[in-house]
Amino acid sequence: MADGKDFLHFIDGRFVASAGGGRFENRSPVDGSLIGHVAEGGGAEVDAAVAAARAALRGPWGGMPVARRVELLYAVADEINRRFDDFLAAEVADTGKPVSLASHIDIPRGAANFKIFADVIKNVPAETFEMATPDGGQALNYSIRVPRGVVAVVCPWNLPLLLMTWKVGPALACGNAVVVKPSEETPGTATLLGEVMNKVGIPKGVYNVVHGFGPGAAGEFLTAHPGVNAITFTGETRTGTAIMKAAAGGVRPVSFELGGKNAGIVFADADFEAAVDGISRAAFANCGQVCLGTERVYVERPIFEKFVGALKARAEGMRPGLPQDQATGIGPLISQEHRAKVLSYYEQARADGATVVTGGGVPQMPPALTGGSWVQPTIWTGLPESSAVIREEIFGPCCHIAPFDSEDEAVQRANDTPYGLCTTVWTSNLSRAHRIAGRIEVGLCWINSWFLRDLRTPFGGSKQSGIGREGGVHSLEFYTELRNVCVKYA
Ligand code: NAD
Repeated sequence: MADGKDFLHFIDGRFVASAGGGRFENRSPVDGSLIGHVAEGGGAEVDAAVAAARAALRGPWGGMPVARRVELLYAVADEINRRFDDFLAAEVADTGKPVSLASHIDIPRGAANFKIFADVIKNVPAETFEMATPDGGQALNYSIRVPRGVVAVVCPWNLPLLLMTWKVGPALACGNAVVVKPSEETPGTATLLGEVMNKVGIPKGVYNVVHGFGPGAAGEFLTAHPGVNAITFTGETRTGTAIMKAAAGGVRPVSFELGGKNAGIVFADADFEAAVDGISRAAFANCGQVCLGTERVYVERPIFEKFVGALKARAEGMRPGLPQDQATGIGPLISQEHRAKVLSYYEQARADGATVVTGGGVPQMPPALTGGSWVQPTIWTGLPESSAVIREEIFGPCCHIAPFDSEDEAVQRANDTPYGLCTTVWTSNLSRAHRIAGRIEVGLCWINSWFLRDLRTPFGGSKQSGIGREGGVHSLEFYTELRNVCVKYA
């Protein structure tokens, strides 16, 4: 994988340093210690990776029968599971997230993403149409799905393996070759996956990784590269805007999973404990660094005070600590830079007149961990809806709770955002649940649940939270081209 703890690019089946030897530091979010160095890719590495991917499409990968591709993707999943502890260690080192979380979600889903899309591609139905031809004969139309070609996969740091394989799995299942640009914060598991690809016999050049930064660097070079046929991206809406401009050159398709400012809505008739549990996870899981997280909570007035008290108790019960410690309830943020951003919103909330129900700062940590990116889980009430804290994505362990008096008001306030990723609604009134699902402007609407994911279902956001849907057969729309074949016969 790497040279000691150095993270190299994976290009054409080989681990390589940058041509000019450029590299940058990778530091632990837990204590700020040096994990290792990451090769810093630029134009030369992107060129080499795109060329390797193109060559793979012309080589054995391009002509490989679907059944063989499926076998190989199953083998990738099995190998990730066999090396579960290595992936877990790499993910935890990069992110600082609790082992209990990464072992439950990140790594198993990383493996599952290869299996599910192998199954999907095995079972693609084809459509056929018979037609009469003007000369009295007949023709049969049928459509086949062909790969897009070289797909650029640009990834964030919050769920590195899970979100990367969510793209790489279907891309490879559909017969594409990929160039992955992992987040500069989390190089580990993408690099490790290169070892897996070689071990199971994925042809060289099918999976490539170029490390580095975004603007004016590897990310931008990759998304602007004329040899890239399609771009799939998960990250901030602002970055999506820049990538969309790059994609316009060459008129390349994009699939975007972007930011959110998701609302949770809790009615007085909800199962109270279940709602507190669900909103607590939605606000604080992964230290609030989940695109599907809830930073705006609307609670029906009769239970407002009780709900605020119950969520406060949850927040205060989450112990920050080492990832390996079973008692750890919350990890650090990804970096000092991100912590500065989150803390600036904590300040903003105070300036805008919030009542700080709990948190609002940095927790007391033992001396060995004070170099980490820790923040307190935080709850506010009393902010005006115009506050930046309510309007902008913070991506930290925090939420604002406001009371509401009617279903209409709750829906209107939930929809009052440029984002439209998801919502979580808690009620025992089934009619109301269906009504809200029809009116809420999001790609994903959870009722009495949150983050329940069936990988066959469409996933994505509306408004500024994304373009397109992936998941199950929906991923085929992006990772393949449909080609119609018309055969005339007498
Ligand atoms: P980010 O947009 O800062 O970076 C994501 C990736 O894009 C990184 O690899 C980065 O190097 C690269 N990049 C940055 N600028 C670029 C440019 N100009 N051209 C090409 N590549 C560029 O996002 P992040 O901070 O890593 O992740 C957090 C964000 O991701 C949040 O906004 C979160 O909501 C979002 N997210 C969304 C989903 C979803 O499914 N909708 C899932 C996870 C995260």
